Amino acid sequence: MLEGHTAVITGAAQGIGLAIARTFAEHGANIVIGDLDRAKAEEAAASLPTPAVGLHCDVTSEADVAGLLSAAVDSFGSLDVMVNNAGITRDATMRTMTEQQFDDVVQVHLRGCWNGTRLAANIMRTSGGGSIINLSSISGKVGFIGQTNYSAAKAGVVGLSKAAAKEVAHLGVRVNVVQPGLIRTAMTEAMPAKVWDQKLSEVPMQRAGEPEEVASVALFYASKLSSYMTGTVAEVTGGRYM
Ligand code: NAP
Repeated sequence: MLEGHTAVITGAAQGIGLAIARTFAEHGANIVIGDLDRAKAEEAAASLPTPAVGLHCDVTSEADVAGLLSAAVDSFGSLDVMVNNAGITRDATMRTMTEQQFDDVVQVHLRGCWNGTRLAANIMRTSGGGSIINLSSISGKVGFIGQTNYSAAKAGVVGLSKAAAKEVAHLGVRVNVVQPGLIRTAMTEAMPAKVWDQKLSEVPMQRAGEPEEVASVALFYASKLSSYMTGTVAEVTGGRYM
């Protein structure tokens, strides 16, 4: 489905990002992985079945994101898909959350997503189009206790993506959002068991999702299967908070 396409995925040395990279590669795409840890990004790229490169990229740095996108064009000749996936959590209730914890989460998710969306759109608008996929979270739809920073940033990702989608739709650039629920990755495995069980009890499908189940939705948005969709939000939650 992505033969001859080039996809850039941030925060893809592990977790959902790596599953997206692997799924895209299995469908023929050349891959550029950007992550904070260069060695892990290189290792992840080397594990893929198609040509792939792994680079250091801090998504809060415009220069880093610009460098990542240039690497895609220089290495493979095009930029067709951009996935803004990098993420962190710094959970605390409002009473105890520090300004630093608030700012760090907003910087990575919101500024990072803005950097990736606008810089990718700048390239895609002149090359005839492309697909941008931004990772939000169900936390941005309903708000979670202890996540005033993360819920704000992830709701912001939806607004950012819809505004961007309207700006570039006539240029063939589509911008869509994936909103995962409880997915089994390092980010969620760090939760106390009690919190995990509580979240699980809210899922009508009665199980956590796997990173590959988010990746297949990203593949849909990356491919021609979704050619008439932009500014949409896909909930991948097993029915939680439908
Ligand atoms: P993860 O396993 O923690 O992976 C996130 C990756 O992003 C890590 O490799 C991390 O690197 C990297 N990263 C962090 N800050 C970065 C930065 N400034 N620049 C570049 N890379 C950075 O998380 P995940 O569970 O796969 O989550 C992926 C995305 O899905 C995130 O946006 C997350 O908010 C969203 N999401 C996840 C879930 C879930 O249940 N897992 C649910 C809803 C939404 P380090 O490890 O070196 O920090």
